[in-house]
Amino acid sequence: MDYKAAFHNAVAQVRDEGRYRVFADLKRHSGDFPRATWTRDDGSECEIIVWCSNDYLGQGQNPVVADAMHAAIDANGTGSGGTRNISGTTHFHVELERELADLHGKESALLFTSGYVSNEATLSTLYKILPGLIIFSDELNHASMISGIRSGGGQRRIFRHNDLAHLEQLLAEADPEAPKLVAFESVYSMDGDISDIRGTVALAKKYGALTYIDEVHAVGLYGQRGGGVSERDDIASEIDIIEATLGKAIGCMGGYIAADAVIIDAIRSYASGFIFTTSLPPALTAGALASVRWLKEHNEVREQHQERAATLKAMMKAAGLPVMESSVSHIVPVMVGDAVHCKMVSDMLLEDHGIYVQPINFPTVPRGTERLRFTPTPFHTDAMMRDLVKALENLWARCNIARVGGYAA
Ligand SMILES: *Cc1c(COP(=O)(O)O)cnc(C)c1O
Repeated sequence: MDYKAAFHNAVAQVRDEGRYRVFADLKRHSGDFPRATWTRDDGSECEIIVWCSNDYLGQGQNPVVADAMHAAIDANGTGSGGTRNISGTTHFHVELERELADLHGKESALLFTSGYVSNEATLSTLYKILPGLIIFSDELNHASMISGIRSGGGQRRIFRHNDLAHLEQLLAEADPEAPKLVAFESVYSMDGDISDIRGTVALAKKYGALTYIDEVHAVGLYGQRGGGVSERDDIASEIDIIEATLGKAIGCMGGYIAADAVIIDAIRSYASGFIFTTSLPPALTAGALASVRWLKEHNEVREQHQERAATLKAMMKAAGLPVMESSVSHIVPVMVGDAVHCKMVSDMLLEDHGIYVQPINFPTVPRGTERLRFTPTPFHTDAMMRDLVKALENLWARCNIARVGGYAA
């Protein structure tokens, strides 16, 4: 076996499809977000504006968060020193779990090292705790949910995206005696649409199913205290398990679930991805704690965030750029519809205009729906938006990309 050739071929295939990924080497400017310095391959540098960060509110530079992290390192050192069972439970972990439970109005919460791990570990473990479990999963669910559902090894049914009629059909067809769980997201971050949480919960209750929601792109961003769309829609108390990340709007890193105490206790006791890994370092948990607390008290940043997104969408639409109609959230996806064009536009924006937006290609989105995904924050000014729209208009003309209506979405 020529092992190296196999690896070369795998990479060549990705290149041929125009979806070879290149990471931008960035130095974020704390205190001056969304500005950053980009280092090219040849070592030269360039000042850019970041348009695709999931640090949606700039919490990654909030002094309240940074101070809490500095202080935690000074007080407690760097690493946590072990798994949660073996000396890795610091006071910050305990406090943060209480704070997150309170955020969602649940009895308990459980921290994981990332949102990915929280989905993967929890969903796979639910099959162990509930023998015969059938998980009903939205077809656009995140890769981490899919991975958890697959590795759990039990039965699964995939329903068409946010199609409650299809979900009901699948629920009705299933064995009425079997334990069931409906797994879905609130904000789907590639299309920017928001699911019908109330409708989904009602169906789940009708068929005796538990509900599991991924609020990764909504926690910190929606609801009076940042509890997500489930808080905004006043339905959190009806959802069995709420999952989210500390890495996006919270500005740190880590993931968690919030639920009834007995559910949390069971996952804590059985989930391999929780038990056998070193816990988050104290500085991260302290930073996340400060961030969550601050966000509970500052609804005005959520209002600013929504205003910025609405303004950018309006400016793009006025320029005839194909902003995806699906987006009713803070995410501004613009359809390109072709992997090679998408990468080309992204490269030109960075090189010629100092604008950084990563192309979104397969497998993150289906082939033929490649897009640019902009995430304006309260720190993106009108002037930055005007520069962005001007640059896009220019490139759309140069690369002959379809404007409104000219793509298959
Ligand atoms: C990013 C993401 C995750 C994973 O969260 P991390 O903390 O980044 O691991 C889970 N679900 C969705 C929908 C995501 O976009």
